[in-house]
Amino acid sequence: TGKRRISIFGATGSIGQSTVDLIRRDSEAYDVVALTGGKNIAQLAKDAVDLRANIAITAHEENLDQLKDALFGSGVEVAAGQAAIEEAATRPCDWVMSAIVGAAGLLPGLRALESRATLALANKESLVTAGPLIMATAHAHHSQILPVDSEHSAVFQGIVGEDMDAVERIIITASGGAFRDWPLEKLATATLAQASAHPNWDMGQRITIDSASMFNKALEVIETKEFFQVSPDQIEVLVHPQSLVHALVGFNDGALMAHLGAPDMRHAIGYALHWPERRNLPVERLDLATVAKLEFRAPDETRYPALRLAREVMAAGGLTGAVFNAAKEIALDGFIAGQIGFMDMAGLVEDTLTQLDGDTSLIHAAMTLDNVLAADQMGREVARRLVATNN
Ligand code: NDP
Ligand code: MG
Repeated sequence: TGKRRISIFGATGSIGQSTVDLIRRDSEAYDVVALTGGKNIAQLAKDAVDLRANIAITAHEENLDQLKDALFGSGVEVAAGQAAIEEAATRPCDWVMSAIVGAAGLLPGLRALESRATLALANKESLVTAGPLIMATAHAHHSQILPVDSEHSAVFQGIVGEDMDAVERIIITASGGAFRDWPLEKLATATLAQASAHPNWDMGQRITIDSASMFNKALEVIETKEFFQVSPDQIEVLVHPQSLVHALVGFNDGALMAHLGAPDMRHAIGYALHWPERRNLPVERLDLATVAKLEFRAPDETRYPALRLAREVMAAGGLTGAVFNAAKEIALDGFIAGQIGFMDMAGLVEDTLTQLDGDTSLIHAAMTLDNVLAADQMGREVARRLVATNN
């Protein structure tokens, strides 16, 4: 048909819905292969009908009947479970959005790359847990990965046409999240509602809390190392409360190329959708005279231990990233469930890393999918024990 075949993994989420929005505006240009979601069956079914998807999949078996009912007579195929999501990722497709949250996004992304689709990667956990495996898979199958995280999209745009040998440093910015102006002593008392309100970006709840704790930035530093293949000491983080400069690339002639734009993920998603072209996008145009002021400051690692942990994870290498991400996911579950406090999250992740540090067979095993999943499981088990004994 000459249409572009696309799939959206995590279609019902924040990134997924922004992607659906862009596709909907030009739906005649696309053949939608698969849409996947989790609990939000009504949204999944609606988008599957509107975009005439071949298949709609919920991650949860217990939601299958509800999805079947919602799509009865629509002609859309339905399925449930992680295996069904994985299978859908092997279907012939030109462009795949990876926007499931957490380590659950790893496998579909890998399968899409093996099937030679271009992978628009929002799921940063894929690169944190299994960066070398993801990059090697893309290389082996001549598949393209395009970053969707706003900072990484900004860096990617900053290095177009440049020689990576001329890149001295990469600076990613952080808003500082919900608590950037709180005194340090008060952070331990931060509530779930307070951590779930982001000053500049409208995102899923998990990444919003990770922004307040800087775990999101910690994941992004590792993501930068893996995607751009630079050394950890070339990566810097700057707190930038306005969230208008997303990243800067420093070159060996002293030039700094900054990427600015409104805090709207449809920019980075649209860039990845139309790459290597640029197309008109429904994103606000900045008026810098009105903005007037851009501020930058160095992050304080006492306030944000997650940033120090990211450095330790990069130095340790191997499967440490998988343990780090798994422990972070469990700590976040614990905070959301009210079992641990806001500042306990970093302590718990650090303790998990320390406990597994001596396990050389785990950390230094080869980076295969099985070993990544084993390290992920191990990290979860240790972290769960620590949540349970925390009081
Ligand atoms: P959301 O929580 O808004 O959405 C997550 C999506 O994944 C939903 O479709 C959800 O389904 C689905 N999902 C949840 N759990 C599972 C599971 N176990 N298996 C399969 N699918 C599941 O997240 P975001 O859109 O905010 O983030 C998605 C990814 O993009 C994350 O990796 C995040 O770090 C990254 N990212 C997000 C940004 C943003 O602006 N939001 C910016 C940069 C990166 P349902 O909701 O139906 O239950
Ligand atoms: Mg980001």
